[in-house]
Amino acid sequence: MEKMTEGNKYCADCGTLGVAFVSVNNAVFLCSECGELHKSLDESVSIIKSINKLTSQDILIVSLGGNEKLHEFLENYSLNSFPAKDKYESTAARYYRANVKINITGS
Ligand SMILES: [Zn+2]
Repeated sequence: MEKMTEGNKYCADCGTLGVAFVSVNNAVFLCSECGELHKSLDESVSIIKSINKLTSQDILIVSLGGNEKLHEFLENYSLNSFPAKDKYESTAARYYRANVKINITGS
């Protein structure tokens, strides 16, 4: 993960330094605690992978997205302070995920 920007070293949800998981469909990095929490969410909401088990496709996705990008987007809807479940199940987050996917597949 050479291309990790500074913001991606911190958990996207709680801001803890040190990330262990990636939510591939949200293109964000998470700490072990928040990653475990995301595992309880539906896969349509968050697909969690260990940071050591990313495919080249996953890495492409997270390099296009990233924590800062999601934060900037959700800030428009004042969603950053919401609990993970409410935040990632929001209509805004669904829209964001759809766009992440479009950027990858080009369709
Ligand atoms: Zn966290």
